Amino acid sequence: MLDKVVIANRGEIALRIYRACRELGIKTVAVHSDADRDLMHVRLADESVCIGPAQSALSYLNAPAIISAAELTDAMAIHPGYGFLSENADFAERVESSGFIFIGPRAETIRVMGDKISAISAMKKAGVPCVPGSDGPLGDDPEENLRLAKEIGYPVIIKAAGGGGGRGMRVVHAEGALLNSIALTRGEAEAAFNNGTLYMEKFLETPRHVEFQVLADTHGNAIHLGERDCSMQRRHQKVVEEAPAPGISEEQRNRMGERCAEACRQIGYRGAGTFEFLYENDEFYFIEMNTRVQVEHPVTEMVTGIDIVKQQLRIAAGEELSYKQQDVRIRGHAVECRLNAEDAETFMPSPGTISLFHSPGGPGVRVDTHVYNGYRVPPYYDSMIGKLITYADDRRAALRRMDGALSEIVLEGIKTNIVLHHDIVNDAAFQAGGTDIHYLEKKLGL
Ligand code: ADP
Repeated sequence: MLDKVVIANRGEIALRIYRACRELGIKTVAVHSDADRDLMHVRLADESVCIGPAQSALSYLNAPAIISAAELTDAMAIHPGYGFLSENADFAERVESSGFIFIGPRAETIRVMGDKISAISAMKKAGVPCVPGSDGPLGDDPEENLRLAKEIGYPVIIKAAGGGGGRGMRVVHAEGALLNSIALTRGEAEAAFNNGTLYMEKFLETPRHVEFQVLADTHGNAIHLGERDCSMQRRHQKVVEEAPAPGISEEQRNRMGERCAEACRQIGYRGAGTFEFLYENDEFYFIEMNTRVQVEHPVTEMVTGIDIVKQQLRIAAGEELSYKQQDVRIRGHAVECRLNAEDAETFMPSPGTISLFHSPGGPGVRVDTHVYNGYRVPPYYDSMIGKLITYADDRRAALRRMDGALSEIVLEGIKTNIVLHHDIVNDAAFQAGGTDIHYLEKKLGL
């Protein structure tokens, strides 16, 4: 097993990684910014190192400082969590060339998956269904681009190969707007991602977001842990997630999950990963792969009983997967609400001191959060302050339990989106299941 791990992240995921390490008897090093000395995991970890000032660019994105901390503390491996450097191929490479284990896939895998065009082409080769599209980068020939869009059929979406976080894309509804849209998106992509490469896809009008969790070891084994539905989104940011996805049959789950696992074997994937799909009219269309642990991983843990973070650590230590596909059973239903320090109506971040915090509890209630009474939410980072997860025998019961848990929470001193979550779990269409990715924004009148 690994001896000592550097947790190169903050907030709830840093605490989650700390807990998994502790259970496996792995020592931990918390690296944190100046503004994060009060984080729960910094207090709990065996060692802590301040790696820079509050700004992420100088701390959590500061690769040399993180690697130095690993050297200083004689750690074996670095867990990047999600966000920050977790999908940065150069960082993964530097970690490994400095003699540490990067807890994630090989740098070259991250690189292939980080470029959407190469990711799609790798997936097509592996037999994963993709959105009909340009099969590679868009050229400069206007006639050719017009022909291509016509062939795909309007509406189409122009996307930046290097895009991320829901940025760098534009929907085109009619031929007249195509060329101008390509030019605009190219300019934006060059400015934002330093990469003007674009591609074109059919724009799906009312899809759901359904994603598959996979685990792959370094011995050629890969399994899937079923799917999650993350269609409840605002500005491409997930707000509520659940597992399994409503209305997905066992046959669909097994077929798509196996395709994802097979793709992992083909590309020599390592660690935990997620294949994201748009799902419309009973068809799945691959959009991207996330090569890291995801915010919403707990819903999968609840329905499978498999600890994904511990599996990441075991895989990084070179162990074989502890489970075969036939050991994976999906039981019951889990829902997750992302709790944000923000105004429920304007969505403006609301940092500040939590004057009172009372956590909900009871059977089937899981709270993944780093906040506590008196904790000051700093203004420098993402506004997510935790996740509330409920689990029950079926979806209805899990939603009821969530409704109860949301009523039990006391979180004072800052604004939160708890009201919004109450609204969502009591929404008739959401309760019926299967709402699409535009549902929440429409409901909010956006
Ligand atoms: P990012 O890396 O920026 O998150 P994705 O490719 O995952 O980009 O797309 C983000 C979101 O944009 C998707 O969840 C979906 O809402 C929307 N989207 C992307 N491609 C399409 C498409 N072909 N049709 C409809 N919506 C799309």
